[in-house]
Amino acid sequence: MADTNELIMPSSSHIALLPSSGMGHLTPFLRLAHLLASCNVKVTFITPEPTVSLAESQILSHFFSAFPQICQEKLHLLPLDNFSASSEDDPFYHHIEVIRQSSRLLSSLLCSVSPPLSALVTDMSLTAAVVPITEALKIPNFIFFTSSAKMLTLFVSFHTLAGSKANANSYEMDYIKIPTLEPIPRSWIPPSLLQDTNNLLKTYIIENGKSMTKSDGILVNTLESIEQSSLLALNGGKVIEGLPLVTAIGLLPPLYFEDHQPLAWLDDQPAGSVVYVSFGSRTAITREQLRELGNGLVGSGCGFVWVVKDKKVDREDGKELVNVIGDELMERVKEKGMVVKHWVNQESILKHPAVGGFLSHCGWNSVTEAMWHGVHVLAWPQHGDQKINADLVERIGLGTWEKSWSWGGGEIVMREQIAEKIKEVMGNKLLRSQAMRIREEARNGIELGRGSKKGLTELIKMLKKERS
Ligand code: UDP
Repeated sequence: MADTNELIMPSSSHIALLPSSGMGHLTPFLRLAHLLASCNVKVTFITPEPTVSLAESQILSHFFSAFPQICQEKLHLLPLDNFSASSEDDPFYHHIEVIRQSSRLLSSLLCSVSPPLSALVTDMSLTAAVVPITEALKIPNFIFFTSSAKMLTLFVSFHTLAGSKANANSYEMDYIKIPTLEPIPRSWIPPSLLQDTNNLLKTYIIENGKSMTKSDGILVNTLESIEQSSLLALNGGKVIEGLPLVTAIGLLPPLYFEDHQPLAWLDDQPAGSVVYVSFGSRTAITREQLRELGNGLVGSGCGFVWVVKDKKVDREDGKELVNVIGDELMERVKEKGMVVKHWVNQESILKHPAVGGFLSHCGWNSVTEAMWHGVHVLAWPQHGDQKINADLVERIGLGTWEKSWSWGGGEIVMREQIAEKIKEVMGNKLLRSQAMRIREEARNGIELGRGSKKGLTELIKMLKKERS
């Protein structure tokens, strides 16, 4: 159990949090906000409005009714200046640009809250825009990095890589070299980052990565025990000089209101027999790949809960499930599994005793949730940081990654391969026990609902130091 005296802040402490775009960023911020509020901190949660997805606006409204002690401040987004959106742009990166440009409204918002702020916790994608504002206001600014510490090593050093001698060849060739860490295969990096031309993702990583050194600290939702080498390199000044302390705050436990979905179908399935299949909140799979995946699930002989996503943004995802996967597949999948095309409560599914495996895109939240619930993973990364996370999943023994499967809508993976791999992973007793061991590790020293004792204590200590 955590020593409460260690964790409680003076009652005048007031922390504001500023998340960015998409559920993958919002969810860990909500969990952190709740954690801080449970340590006697007054918490103000700044919500950029409107959100891109419906899921974000729905979870926000549940959150503020479940935790009325947490204050909401709205950052009303401005129309974009000097920016021509391209149809190629990811709507979530586009939204980050809107928040970035609207951040000039932040100064008056941060000054208007009472009592005066002890600190702001900002999403990594807004670092470059927000650090100058908090510097001018003399408010400590901590960056919350919502992916793995391994991904952080790439994020903070990416701006130096293209020009460096060490990478002069490797950048062009097969590997990206980050000092003291194993080289990262170029094929794990999203292609848009390696293009010569500028694009939103590239600018966002270069600009924000550079500005991280100007923040007062970096928080990562990870376990020290599984990401020791990255954390040591980051904190030893090896990856980049001048970085503030990077703190692994432990896995953030789910909030109870996330856990409410009735799962009657799952209740009738044998323990550990069902594979849960989801590619997160913002990845649409092509129709052709969906057909192969559905047939692969049926062919595996395992029970499954399959979340189908047809469009990146849920507001545009209006088609009926049957019109997306077709009548024939619909009939086949109904016999063996539960197939939905709407937001599900992932936490309720992962914690259900019938669930014994997770076919996941390896968004960082999904990986941490699999660790938290001890469910082993078959990794099928799709874009962004997901190959780096999938590699970590494999290294720590949480799961396996079939590297020959393409990402981002490349070559279609056929039903036979999918069926075979699912069968193999669901029958893998070693992975199952390793996932349970990681679950124990993740929860070790945790007072339920509060987070990792060590990580939390360090966070509170940092905030106290900034105040004195
Ligand atoms: N999620 C959920 N239900 C869904 C889809 C996603 O609860 O139907 C949650 C999931 O539990 C996780 C987050 O949304 O907390 C997705 O974040 P992640 O980093 O895994 O992937 P992203 O969606 O950012 O690609």
